[in-house]
Amino acid sequence: MNAEPGLPLERRIGKRSAGVIEKHLGITTVEGLLNYFPRRYMARGELTPISELPRDEEVTLIARVLSSSTRSMQARKGTITDVVISDDDGRSGLRLVGGTDFHGKVPGTLKISFFNAYRAKSELLPGRRALFSGKVTSFKGALGLTNPDFQVLDSDPFTAGSDDPEKLAAMPIPVYPATAKLPSWKIQKVISTLLETVDLGAVPDPVPASVAAREDFLPLATAYRLVHEPETAADWQRARHRFRYQEALVLQSALARRRSQLAAEEATARRPVTDGVLAAFDRNLPFTLTDGQAAVGKTLAAGLAENHPMNRLLQGEVGSGKTVVALRAMLQVVDAGGQAALLAPTEVLAAQHYDSIRRTLGPLSRDGLLGALGSQDGESVQVTLLTGSMPAAARKQALLDAASGTAGIIIGTHALLSDNVSFYDLGLIVVDEQHRFGVEQRDALRAKARKPPHLLVMTATPIPRTVAMTVFGDLETSTLDELPKGRAPISTHLVGLAENPGWAGRIWARAREEIDAGHQVYVVCPKIGTDDDGDFTPGEAEPADVGLEDNGRELASVTAVVEHLQDEPSLAGIPLAPLHGRQDPDLKSDTMARFLANTVKLLVSTTVIEVGVDVHNATLMVILDADRFGISQLHQLRGRVGRGGLPGTCLLVTSLERGHPSRRRLEAVASTTDGFVLSQEDLKLRREGDILGASQSGGRSTLRLLRVLEHGDVIAQARSDAQEIVAADPALDAHTELADAIDRYLNPEKEAFLERG
Ligand code: ADP
Ligand code: MG
Repeated sequence: MNAEPGLPLERRIGKRSAGVIEKHLGITTVEGLLNYFPRRYMARGELTPISELPRDEEVTLIARVLSSSTRSMQARKGTITDVVISDDDGRSGLRLVGGTDFHGKVPGTLKISFFNAYRAKSELLPGRRALFSGKVTSFKGALGLTNPDFQVLDSDPFTAGSDDPEKLAAMPIPVYPATAKLPSWKIQKVISTLLETVDLGAVPDPVPASVAAREDFLPLATAYRLVHEPETAADWQRARHRFRYQEALVLQSALARRRSQLAAEEATARRPVTDGVLAAFDRNLPFTLTDGQAAVGKTLAAGLAENHPMNRLLQGEVGSGKTVVALRAMLQVVDAGGQAALLAPTEVLAAQHYDSIRRTLGPLSRDGLLGALGSQDGESVQVTLLTGSMPAAARKQALLDAASGTAGIIIGTHALLSDNVSFYDLGLIVVDEQHRFGVEQRDALRAKARKPPHLLVMTATPIPRTVAMTVFGDLETSTLDELPKGRAPISTHLVGLAENPGWAGRIWARAREEIDAGHQVYVVCPKIGTDDDGDFTPGEAEPADVGLEDNGRELASVTAVVEHLQDEPSLAGIPLAPLHGRQDPDLKSDTMARFLANTVKLLVSTTVIEVGVDVHNATLMVILDADRFGISQLHQLRGRVGRGGLPGTCLLVTSLERGHPSRRRLEAVASTTDGFVLSQEDLKLRREGDILGASQSGGRSTLRLLRVLEHGDVIAQARSDAQEIVAADPALDAHTELADAIDRYLNPEKEAFLERG
């Protein structure tokens, strides 16, 4: 491995600068600093007359200091430095960078007041030219700049002495992620020194020559130069293009290598049998599988029958029938003598999976109390729930059943990952991925099996392809893109009570119409009672996730809404019932049974109905304080109506003002029923780090130039290249530069930029 990139910085830029860089950016190596890319580039604009400077907008301009004076403040300790700036060369204009519409008449100078600003006092000397960015304000007719950031251009190494105004005007200004103590221009100066002293030709290039030639990439050394010191916008664009691909290639190669390593492991083959529980299940299935379900089912069956582990992601639209597909895979493993574990993100969801899987299995499932002999008797399977909050005795029994092999299907939460859980012969892990489990957690579960188990990860809602490639890049992907027949369209409407308070009553009148037509209604609330503040119902929409906040408003709760609806004139005489997770299980199932039997017409509930509830006669869903839920949760919820061939309606009720950022989510959900579009939208509203989640944490580097949503084409290309490279050279023996880059990516030195989001 070449020494240059790993060289300590001080060998190239001197002890002092290296110390400053380490202190403020945490970077200690040549490569670390070379890869500290500008966050953006400012384009120097045309000369703009001062009179046309936009007000109250962030502007960047080049100006010359006319005068500077410092005085003591009268009332308090400290000094004020007044700096008057004018256009660059005495003509009546300022070089404005960026900025859009111009208005207002202004005099030919701007005054800036700095408080206790030693740097302004010492650097902004009359005659010096500098770059300022800040907001133009006017106070009593005098123009000023508030808190401008500035950079003296005369100490800017590559513009100093440049008298060619054309060239200067075209030259982009790199803007580095800076700290208060270490401004962008200082970073730029140090990097400029580095570029002069380092042997760029000796920096190894992880991109294979054939790919670089195909893509017409800049040579690595040139790319480093142009990313840091571009002369034109095209320069940095080309350089970034290359580094972005490079980043994608290293990441995708790491994933491809992992896929190939996992696939090479030994696993127990779980071959299908003809007379097991699965066959009985299929015979009793009340519907026919969709073509997609059948096709994915075949893929899974074949994967499980291999003696290498299957590692697969199953994604599909809400209601596309993923659970049935997963359950069939679990039954195949049970038939073959193994156990299957289903990992759910929350206790409530685990309990719901438990209920609905036992319901789906019907007589094919049995509880632990019957004392059957093994997980498979060819006729039935024991389904066991294991969560942290179970009573001690039940939990102990569940642990025992998992360890002895009595339990064939074990359903639980993260609790399944804990040390005291062991399995007799874990053959398949199904992860119901509402929250995204990271690679590390997948590994923790894998480690529970004697041999690597097969793995199936299910997404709650479909995700864009390139996100799947990145977040679940170590898995193969199957997609269910068709809904079972008989699903009618759902129309979704946003009901804004802020602008139309009168609509509250109309909602219940609408509910009455549905009920009079013989149909049923769901009302979903974010809370159970009026006194609790947080029984936040499960799902992905935890407050921190989607930026939800209460602002002190009283949120709709199941108990309050039930009380209110009992007095609601338009619902007089309509049988309605509450349903939530804190009710006694018997009461819950009784309520569900009555709703199924259509004796309860209107169900007021929390999101307990999100999963597993299937009432074909329900046609209207009213979601109160809908802004409290996340996009995919709302999408999941509305999937509960429109199931019986009857068109469904979903009302998203909110009291947030128009234009409130949280209303964007509701508008998105109302605008489409396409889960892929919605998840794209959902992800756009999150930060990159949230998208990548745990797969990028735990010491892994944050992506620098690559944005998962924006650069899908780059990621896809890099993935196919990586696949090809790894297939031909699994150990990367002929690609040592790439292998080294992967190692550094997986195991980076502790450098500050890696921790930055
Ligand atoms: P997902 O988990 O993908 O959102 P589910 O597996 O919960 O979807 O399936 C939604 C509903 O559709 C369930 O009630 C299930 O029984 C039913 N279902 C699944 N597959 C079919 C099918 N092929 N035909 C009719 N109904 C189906
Ligand atoms: Mg499901």
